[in-house]
This record gives sequence, C-alpha cells and structure tokens, in this order.
Amino acid sequence: MDFGFGPELTALRGEVRRFVDERIVPLEAQIVREDRERRRVTLEGLRREARAAGLYVPHLPESYGGRNLGVLGMCALFREMGRSFVAAAVFNCDAPDQGNMDLLLRHGSEALKAQYLAPLAEGDITSAFCMTEPAPGAGADPSNLRTRAEEAGDEFVINGHKWYSTGGDAARFLIVMARTSPDPRTGATMFVVDREAKGVEHVREIPTMSEPLLAHREAEFRFHDVRVKRDAILGQVGDGFRLAQARLVPARLTHCMRWLGLADRALEMCKEYATTRHSFGKTLVHHQLILKKFADNAAAIHIGNLLTLHCASMLEAGQEREARPYSSMAKNHVAKALCQVLDDAIQIHGGLGFSDDVPFGTWYRAARAARIADGPDEVHDVVVGRDYLRGTLRVLV
Ligand SMILES: Cc1cc2nc3c(=O)[nH]c(=O)nc-3n(C[C@H](O)[C@H](O)[C@H](O)COP(=O)(O)OP(=O)(O)OC[C@H]3O[C@@H](n4cnc5c(N)ncnc54)[C@H](O)[C@@H]3O)c2cc1C
Repeated sequence: MDFGFGPELTALRGEVRRFVDERIVPLEAQIVREDRERRRVTLEGLRREARAAGLYVPHLPESYGGRNLGVLGMCALFREMGRSFVAAAVFNCDAPDQGNMDLLLRHGSEALKAQYLAPLAEGDITSAFCMTEPAPGAGADPSNLRTRAEEAGDEFVINGHKWYSTGGDAARFLIVMARTSPDPRTGATMFVVDREAKGVEHVREIPTMSEPLLAHREAEFRFHDVRVKRDAILGQVGDGFRLAQARLVPARLTHCMRWLGLADRALEMCKEYATTRHSFGKTLVHHQLILKKFADNAAAIHIGNLLTLHCASMLEAGQEREARPYSSMAKNHVAKALCQVLDDAIQIHGGLGFSDDVPFGTWYRAARAARIADGPDEVHDVVVGRDYLRGTLRVLV
C-alpha cells in the first residue's frame, strides 16, 4: 500500500489548503448570507480566483480546464476542500455536479457533451441526479424503480415520480434513471433530460433538517410524458444500474474525503477550546474523559482516511469490482465518524457548542444525511458482511 501522493500532488494539495483557509473560510458566512438571498457574488469572485490559480475543476481533463486528476488525486484535494462547506462549490467540484460531469464525460455523446458538459465545467449551469423515488419506488433498494421510459419511434417517453434530486430546481439538466425493461440487471437506463423539457413538473423543495445551501436543496419532480431523443441516453439502453455503480463508487470516496476534511477542522476547533478553557482547576484537555474523546475521534478520522485512500488506490489500479465493498466500508465508517466528531464537538464546547456562535449545529444537521444518502448504513453493512463471508473482502490487506 503506497498512498504517496508524489511531489506535484503534495504541492497542489498545499495550494488548495491555503486557498481554502485563507480565501474561502473567512468568506464562508458571507457566501451563506448571499445564498439565502439567492445571490452568488462572493462565490463567483472566488471561482474566478480559483480558476486563475489553476485550481478549478481539477478532476476534469485539460480540454475542460482541469488537471485530469484520478480518484487518488481527487481524494488528496477533497480533504482540503472539505474543511469548508462551500469550498467544493468554489472549485466547481460539488455534488452532484462532479459525479454528473464524470458520467457525461465517459458515457455522453459528443452532442450531449457540447450542450451540457461544457457549460457545466465552466460553472455556467448546474445539474441533478434523479434516481430516488418516494415509496414504494426506488430507494435503498434500486430494484423498486418505478419511473418508466417507453420507446416511441426514435424517442423515449418518461413517466414517473422522483424526490431528493439534489439541486434539481436550479439545474439546467437532470440525469434520470428510468426502467426500460423488467430485467433486474439490465432493466434501467439513464437519460439526460432538460430541466425545461415539456412535462417536467417541479413539485416542491423538500424541507429537511439541514438548511438549504448552494446546490444542497432537495427537489421533488414528476415526469409526465417527457419526450427525449435516443441520443439523450448515457451509455446504452440497459446500462443504468451499471453506470450508477460506476458513478457512485468514486463519488462515495470524494464524499468521504470532504467529510474527513470537515471532521478534521472540527477536531482542530475542539483542540483550541479544550486547551484554553479551564474547568475544576485545569484545562479541559487535562480531564481524561475529554482526552478520550480526542483519542477516539483522532483514531476515527485516521481510520477513515486509510480506508478511503486504500479504496481509491484500488480504483486507480483498475480493481473496480473488488473495490466496491471497501467503498461501502469507508462510507459507513466516515459518515458515522463525522457525526460522532460533530456531536463530541458540541459536547466539548458546552453551551457554546449548542449555540449558533459556532457552526457545529449547522454542520451536524447537514452531516446526518451522510448516513442515509447514497445508500443507508444498513445497506452498506449488508455489502460488507456478505462480501466478507464470500471471501471477496479481505480484512488484512
Ligand atoms: C440529503 C440527501 C440528498 C440526497 N440526494 C440524492 C440525489 O441527488 N439523487 C438521488 O437519486 N437520491 C438522493 N438521495 C436519496 C438517498 O440516496 C436515499 O434516501 C437512500 O438511498 C435511501 O433510500 P430511501 O430514502 O428510500 O430509504 P428506504 O429505502 O425507505 O429505507 C429506509 C430505511 O430502511 C432501512 N433499510 C433499508 N434497506 C435495508 C436493509 N437491506 N437492511 C436493513 N435495513 C434496511 C434503513 O435504515 C433505511 O434508512 C438523497 C438523500 C438525502 C438524505
């Protein structure tokens, strides 16, 4: 196992770290305030700076203005971007756009790339990924997929109901997963649907426990006889489930690295408070029960980092199938670690921790989704347990 990032990537990571800490973190609150009024002045200014510094869309090929970084390279940068909730948006690497760019790049026709990928890479438009449906449709179990796409000449006609399409309302296009046959493996297809296409009904923004911010607004859609041309298909008819896996595994790792970056920043803030706050005649860090929280959380972040980088190195080596249970393990561990670190951060800061004078409450409410989105804990546990019993996941690598 060698996670050595090499001198070039190490230097790049340092640049991203400095940009996040020096340029983005001081403007976080302003970006949030503007976003509440649906303004993006500060964010757009930072985007221009990031582009000028050569840090914009680093995951994309040079032809799209990026640096063509692989999964490991992205992991190296994402842990720095994760330090701020708004940083991924500044570098135009936020979910769901980053995963959607990847899908279009690998599986979109040249016409789709010109129409949607080019402006998405520029940051002129945004996108959404529409897989999940309200019960009884697709959720933790994608085989419940109910949205249908029926062939009609050289077109497909889509009917269905989706929700939790993150960023869907503001998106220029939606990647919609629809059933094209009853086959459990090849029965789904992904379509690129223009957000303004006739028959796309935006039902509502779903109110959630976390404050909507930037792309992280949850849309509900109904599709009524939405017609798309055959070239709106990503890959081939029947590739939907396969492409979803291919999109989700690396996207899961980039989530993990963002979450680790945030957990690391929260733990640093705890260190600052606990080394200066006196209680019962000594600073908090000299109370062993507090020290134990630092020990547990430092270990949890480190384990998460190793799990994620190990899985990323498997993907880099082309072991996509073998990497899947490791990505589930990493995702489950890191999602829980983030929630625990933030819960402990609230505890260590006492009343201050519970107040909105510090960001832990806001972060925690958003972080809680990590244990549900992209498959709930239990489903990933099933994958890990099953593959361990089958002998396809080795715990000593
Ligand atoms: C903030 C947020 C953003 C999201 N963004 C998107 C997006 O952009 N696009 C998109 O398509 N979807 C998105 N989702 C949806 C997300 O992927 C689903 O919520 C998730 O897959 C779970 O599906 P469900 O909500 O239908 O839960 P259900 O399928 O109803 O499951 C409910 C619960 O049942 C339990 N459960 C399910 N299966 C098992 C099992 N095998 N064993 C034991 N227990 C089980 C789990 O506790 C689970 O939480 C988002 C969700 C959130 C919260």
